[in-house]
Amino acid sequence: MIIILKPQASEKDANEILDKISSLGLKPLYMPGIERTVLGALGDERVLRQLHLDSYPMVDEIKPVLSPYKLVSRELQAHDSIVSIGGVKVGGGNFTVIAGPCSVESEAQLFGVSEMIKQQGVPLLRGGAFKPRTSPYSFQGLGLEGLKLLKAAKEKYDLPVVSEIIDPNDAKLMHEYVDCYQIGARNMQNFRLLEAVGEQSDKAVLLKRGMSATLEELLLAAEYIINAGNPNVILCERGIRTFETATRNTLDLNAVAYLKEKSHLPVFVDPSHGTGVRSLINPLSRAAVAVGADGIIVEAHLNPKEALSDGHQALTADDFATLMADIKPFVSAAGKTL
Ligand code: PEP
Ligand code: MN
Repeated sequence: MIIILKPQASEKDANEILDKISSLGLKPLYMPGIERTVLGALGDERVLRQLHLDSYPMVDEIKPVLSPYKLVSRELQAHDSIVSIGGVKVGGGNFTVIAGPCSVESEAQLFGVSEMIKQQGVPLLRGGAFKPRTSPYSFQGLGLEGLKLLKAAKEKYDLPVVSEIIDPNDAKLMHEYVDCYQIGARNMQNFRLLEAVGEQSDKAVLLKRGMSATLEELLLAAEYIINAGNPNVILCERGIRTFETATRNTLDLNAVAYLKEKSHLPVFVDPSHGTGVRSLINPLSRAAVAVGADGIIVEAHLNPKEALSDGHQALTADDFATLMADIKPFVSAAGKTL
């Protein structure tokens, strides 16, 4: 429920209502604006009715939040959220590229690709230390060693890092090494994991859409993280499973426009997993900019033939330079800054 106060309402009036909301076991929200203060009360609908807020003289209007998700909704916050990844501002007029290998494999591999993306003006490095693989026989990632290499690359190249978390017990450990937790498609509805990154950290979380998840399920998964205490969530469309087999997944660009309309959170596109085809990453990146995404996350490798995971979709240094040049006019046309 959203409670809009009259322009002359004081902070004391707001606090009186917030106390009442808390005393009923509901979650109070305080959103001071330039002209008016807006309050929120989240929780059990039946308890919400007991508030009798219409009897408070400083309450101007009471509106229900109709969507099942609340904290992520534009109904609650009309303006775009800006999320910081290690000081790099994501959303709100920025178009941000995150790039790096699928997996961290060695110092030489990670430093090589870091240097290449840095030269291309990319501000953020990705790389998996814990890999959720379809087969138990595939490379599972370097684990802690991978996290250490990511931190070393961050320090050497001044590139804050994004890396996937697959176990809620790793939230504290990873807090020391990464600037943004990635929650992968396979874990979008791992509710203990969502709560762990919400409760134990205020670092950004890049939440990828599950391969069979609806957009409402994605938004409710983001709601878990924010409800647990961490508002710094970035949504990511990474392709869904459809009847189509020509590409690894079907990149659902409807999702980007829909999510931007319904939510204030930044929305990213992953054209690497979304297509699984190296040559399609460039055109789908341009499409992502055009449809209103706030950024892309792209896999790159200096020697894709030797990659331990997802080599078939990794961009080489040349592909990557072309990609950066090709998205530039699209980013300008979208009125954003690269
Ligand atoms: C990845 O980013 O390498 C990855 C495993 O992504 P997804 O969860 O989207 O499959
Ligand atoms: Mn990958």
